[in-house]
Amino acid sequence: MNISEKLQKKYAELIVRTGANVRHGQVVQLTVSVEQHAFAAMVIEECYRAGAKKVNVDWTYDVQSRLNFLYADQDTLSAVLPWEEEKLRQMVKDLPCRIYIASDDPDAMRGVDPKKLSDVMQCRGRIVKPYRNQIDGRHQWVIAAYPSEKWAKKCFPEAEDAVDRLWEAVLSTVRVTEDNDPVAAWKEHTDFIEKKAAWLNEQGFSSLRYHSANGTDFTVDLIPGARWEGAGVVNPTNGAFYIPNMPTEEIFTSPIAGKCEGTLVAVKPLSYHSQLIEDFSITFENGRAVSCRAGKGQELLERMIKMDEGAAMLGEVALVPKESPVNRCGFLFYETLFDENACCHVALGAGFKEVLPDGENLNTDEARERGINDSIIHVDFMIGAEDLSIDGIRQDGTKAAVFRNGTWA
Ligand code: ZN
Repeated sequence: MNISEKLQKKYAELIVRTGANVRHGQVVQLTVSVEQHAFAAMVIEECYRAGAKKVNVDWTYDVQSRLNFLYADQDTLSAVLPWEEEKLRQMVKDLPCRIYIASDDPDAMRGVDPKKLSDVMQCRGRIVKPYRNQIDGRHQWVIAAYPSEKWAKKCFPEAEDAVDRLWEAVLSTVRVTEDNDPVAAWKEHTDFIEKKAAWLNEQGFSSLRYHSANGTDFTVDLIPGARWEGAGVVNPTNGAFYIPNMPTEEIFTSPIAGKCEGTLVAVKPLSYHSQLIEDFSITFENGRAVSCRAGKGQELLERMIKMDEGAAMLGEVALVPKESPVNRCGFLFYETLFDENACCHVALGAGFKEVLPDGENLNTDEARERGINDSIIHVDFMIGAEDLSIDGIRQDGTKAAVFRNGTWA
């Protein structure tokens, strides 16, 4: 691997300082694969330099996860043990700054019964989610990626230099080069996104209408007063500005759960549980996905939509212009962190209560009453066709062009 240690340190520093924005005296919870231990050390050290009180690490290993799913029985895997719950309780108390380094093999779960996978997720989700809800919108977090060999091979199966190519793509999308100032580059980027979000917030659209020659013909209602957000978020408990996703290109909000109509046609395959769903479309009636069609992965898509009550409704609509650097890379990353930043998308499942004024103080039921969808899934799929047009419609019926030909109008 030819990525210099210096460049990796620069990247680690960006993740800790600009992404998570670790503050003096904070506990940091780092989740990272054992395979990336050398990079983890760089991140840990940078956290301490930034003033972290303690850095705890959840070491993961996708090979172990796969073996567990192949050999352990479903009840065992579904159980959330008392010590795990105690750890979650501690997390609610500490409100740690959380850093995730994504590097898993996209095929890690291949061969695992997808029903077992989703049933276990569903069971564990029921126990874990109330704790998650208590920290949502009240702590800093960031997800960034570290190219692993298997992940790179998945993206570039034929290439000798797959890892280098994936590194090149990752670094270009997170705006890190040998001689640039990534902090300044991110400032410029987040300023641009904030300007667009401010414009959307001023418009006060009550619905969006999507249209494309590929068959997308769709209207979704927006929650009055809900904000469009993008790039950075302020942690209300300490005022720290952090960037949850690196890269990030999207401006997003949560629409009203159960208020949309029409058909969305996906423009990119969806990688879900190590399987691909391809050439698919989903049709909504009265706000719920009532039918779906997939060239590949039909059954998986149907199961996903039926995961729970909220899985058939939308939790997110996001705007990303087709000039996004992720899109310019021109390949599928098999990793939502990147793929969702390629073009416009929506997500089935959980919404973000943080988009509501004072949202971080609402519990799940209160957020649901205000229109925010709730589910254990949150699955993004891409609908940003080359010719996509989006109109914003205001309460009084007037409208404005938001997107034309896949980019800002
Ligand atoms: Zn998104």
